[in-house]
Amino acid sequence: MDYLAGLNPQQRAAVENTEGPAMIVAGAGSGKTRVITYRVAHLIEKGVDAFNILVLTFTNKASKDMRERIMKVVGDEAKNIWMGTFHSVFAKILRVEAEKIGYPSNFTIYDTDDSKSLIRAILREMQLDDKLYNANFVYNRISSAKNNLVSHTEYLENKEIQAEDSSNKRPLLGVIYETYAKRCFKAGAMDFDDLLFKTNILLKNHPDVLNKYQQKFRYLMVDEYQDTNFSQYTIVKKLAAAYQNICVVGDDAQSIYAFRGANIQNILNFERDYPELQVYKLEQNYRSTQNIVEVANSIIANNKNQLEKNVFSDNESGSRIRVQRAFTDNEEGKIVAEAIVQDRTSNGLHYNDFAILYRTNAQSRAMEESLRKLNIPYKIYGGLSFYQRKEIKDLIAYFRLTFNPSDEEAIKRVINYPKRGLGDTTVEKIIVAADKYNITMWDVICNPSQYIEGRIAGQLNDFALLIQSFMAEAKKLDAYETALYIAQHSGILKELHTDDSIEGRSRYENIQELLNGIKEFAEREDIEDRSLAIFMQDIALLTNDDRQDDKDKDTVSLMTIHSSKGLEFKNVFIVGLEENLFPSQMSVNSRSDLEEERRLFYVAVTRAEKKLSLSYATSRYRWGTLTNCEPSRFISEINARYLEIEVAKPTKSLLSEDGFNEERRTWTQQREFAAKPKMSSGPAAGSPAAPRPKTTTMLPKAHVPSPGFAPDPANAFQTGMDVEHEKFGFGKIVNLEGSLPDVKATVFFQGLGNKQLLLKFAKLRIV
Ligand code: ATP
Ligand code: MG
Repeated sequence: MDYLAGLNPQQRAAVENTEGPAMIVAGAGSGKTRVITYRVAHLIEKGVDAFNILVLTFTNKASKDMRERIMKVVGDEAKNIWMGTFHSVFAKILRVEAEKIGYPSNFTIYDTDDSKSLIRAILREMQLDDKLYNANFVYNRISSAKNNLVSHTEYLENKEIQAEDSSNKRPLLGVIYETYAKRCFKAGAMDFDDLLFKTNILLKNHPDVLNKYQQKFRYLMVDEYQDTNFSQYTIVKKLAAAYQNICVVGDDAQSIYAFRGANIQNILNFERDYPELQVYKLEQNYRSTQNIVEVANSIIANNKNQLEKNVFSDNESGSRIRVQRAFTDNEEGKIVAEAIVQDRTSNGLHYNDFAILYRTNAQSRAMEESLRKLNIPYKIYGGLSFYQRKEIKDLIAYFRLTFNPSDEEAIKRVINYPKRGLGDTTVEKIIVAADKYNITMWDVICNPSQYIEGRIAGQLNDFALLIQSFMAEAKKLDAYETALYIAQHSGILKELHTDDSIEGRSRYENIQELLNGIKEFAEREDIEDRSLAIFMQDIALLTNDDRQDDKDKDTVSLMTIHSSKGLEFKNVFIVGLEENLFPSQMSVNSRSDLEEERRLFYVAVTRAEKKLSLSYATSRYRWGTLTNCEPSRFISEINARYLEIEVAKPTKSLLSEDGFNEERRTWTQQREFAAKPKMSSGPAAGSPAAPRPKTTTMLPKAHVPSPGFAPDPANAFQTGMDVEHEKFGFGKIVNLEGSLPDVKATVFFQGLGNKQLLLKFAKLRIV
C-alpha cells in the first residue's frame, strides 16, 4: 500500500473510508482529484471489481489522466473502470438502453451546429422573426429547460414559464421546444442535453434499468461536483440510492458554469440528501507557491457568497506576481511570447510548462501570432475540433445516414453535396411532405412519387439507392473499407480532389487523415466490435483535446479559463485583464455575475505552480473598433505587495513593421511594499506616464515573415489593415479569429457594414 504514503492524514482518511456518502469541499490544489484517483486505486486493491466503479469527470482529458495514474497502481484492471464525462458515460449507457425509450440504439448525437441548424429551420417554417427568436437564444432556453428536467409538455403547461415568455414577447418558445423535441425524436437524434435528460427519463420510467445500474455502480465518484447541473445531480442521486457509496469533491469557489445551469445548491443539497454524510476538509495546497495561494485567497475573499475555507501552502514563497501592461493586444502577445522564451531558457523549463489563459477564444489570435513569430510550438485546447471541419462533417454525415437514415440534419447536409440537382426547394418539399404525412424525410426520399410533385423523383431515387448501397456495404466490409467506399462513391473524394487550391488540398488531406484514423481503429485488438457504426457512435462528443497525435509534444498550452479547470502548469499567463473583457461586460451589472467572473479569475490564478503573470492592453480591437481599455478591477483587488509591475516601454517599434529584432522593451519596476496601486484609470500607478501613440499610427502593418516561419498567405493579415475584396470593394479588417487554416475575418466595408469572411476563400488583397 505504498501509494497511501503520498497522502496527508485527511486525504488518507477520505481515501480509506470507502463506504457511505462522503463529500470534500476544499480549495484549489488541495488534492481533491488526487483523493478520487487514489480512492479508486484503493478500492481495486481492496478487491472491488473495477467494473463496479463509476467515476465522473469534467473533461475527457481528466479521465484519461486519472486512468493512467490508477493504472500505475493497479495495472491493466484500471481499463475496466467506468470513467468519463457525464455525457460520454451516459451516451454509452443510452446506446444499450435506447430502445426502451423509443430510440434506435444507433441514434445520432446532434452537436451544437446540428441543433442550431434544426432550430433555424423550425423558425423559418414558423415564419418567426429570427432577431426576436434568435437561434442561439432559443437553443440556450431549450438547453436550460432540459438541464432543469422540464420537458416540452411541462414547459407548455407551466403557467409561470408561459407568463415569463409572454412578458418577454416570445410566447412561442414552448411551441418551438415541442417541435424541436419531436423533430429530434423522429430523426432518431439526441442533442447534448438529451444525453442527460433522456438518461433521467430512462432511470425514472424503468425501475428495472435503474436497478441494474445501481447494482453495477456500487461505488460512484464525481470530480468538480460544484459544476454539475440539476439533471446531472439527479442522475447521480438515483444511481447512488441503493448503496450510497458516493463520494463527491468540489470547490464552491471554482463554480464557473452557472450560465449552463450548474448550481452551488447541489453542494448544499448533498448535505441534505445524506444525513450520514462524512465531510473531509483539505486545507493544504500542494500545487502553488505561498504567494500564489495567498493571492488566490485574497481574490476570493472579495466574494460575499462563499463557504468558509482555509487554504495554505508549505511550498516556497516564490516570486511575485508579474503584472505587465501593453499598448495593444498584439503587443501583449509579444510580451508573453518573449517572456516564455526567456523563462524557458533561464529556468530550464519545457514549453509544456507554460500555459496562456484567456477569457474569450478570440484572444488567442494575438497570442498565436506572436508565438509563431518566435517559433514557439503551441496547442490550442478546446478550439475547433478536427471533427467539426466542414469536409469531415460532410463525410461523417454520409456515415451517419448509413447507420441512421432518419437523421434529418445529415440528410440536409449531403443531399446536394456533391451537387446532384437536389437544391433547397426540393429539401423544403421533402420537409413539408414529411411533416404532412408524419413520416421521416428518408421515407419521402425512398418513395418520392408518392409524396411530392415535380420532376425530381429520378434524382431522389438515385440518392436513396446510393445510401442503400452504403448500408449494404457496411454489412459486408470492415470499418475502414466501408468508410473508403463511402468516401469514394459519395463523390466527396472526387470533389475535393479536383480542387487544386491549397485549401482544397488540405481538405483532401483531412479526409485522408480521417480515413487513416478509421484504419487504425479497424485494426485495434483491444475491442471486440470494430465496425464503422461503433467508430461513429460518439464522434460528436469528441473535442480537439481528445486527439492522440500530439499527446507527447512539447508545446505551450493555450486555452480559455473555462477549459483550464483542474489542470496545473508551472508557469501561467493570464492575459486580457481589462474591464469589460475580464470581468466581461455582461457581468459587471450584477453581483452574482461579477462573483462568477471572480471565481473564474480564482480558477485561473490557482492553475499556476511556480510563476504567475497577469497582463492587459490599454487598447484593443473589439467589435470592430479600437477601444481604450482600463485594467481589470481584479488586478487592483490584489494586495500590491504581491505584485511586480512591468510596463512595456513605448518605442518606435510600436509604429514599425515588426519590432521583433529590437532589444527587449520592458523594464521592471520593483514596488517594495508600495501602496495599493490605483488602477482604475490611466497608466498603472508608479509607472511613468507613457505618451499614448495616436490610434491611427498604432495600427500594425502586415508583418514580414521572419526566417524559419513558414509564409502563409492567411497569415499576412492583421486587424486594422486596409483590404480590397472583389465584390465588396475597400474595407478594413476589424477582427480576426480562429486559427489557420480557418481564420475568419470581420471586415468593415463602407456602406455595407461588417462582413464575416473566411480568409482562405475571401481572396482579400492588402491595399
Ligand atoms: P483543483 O481544485 O484545481 O481541481 P485539486 O484539489 O483537485 O485541485 P489536485 O490536482 O488533486 O488538487 O492536486 C494538486 C497538486 O498537488 C497535484 O500536483 C497533486 O499531485 C499534488 N498533491 C496533492 N496532494 C498531495 C500530497 N499529499 N503530497 C504531495 N503532493 C500532493
Ligand atoms: Mg481537481
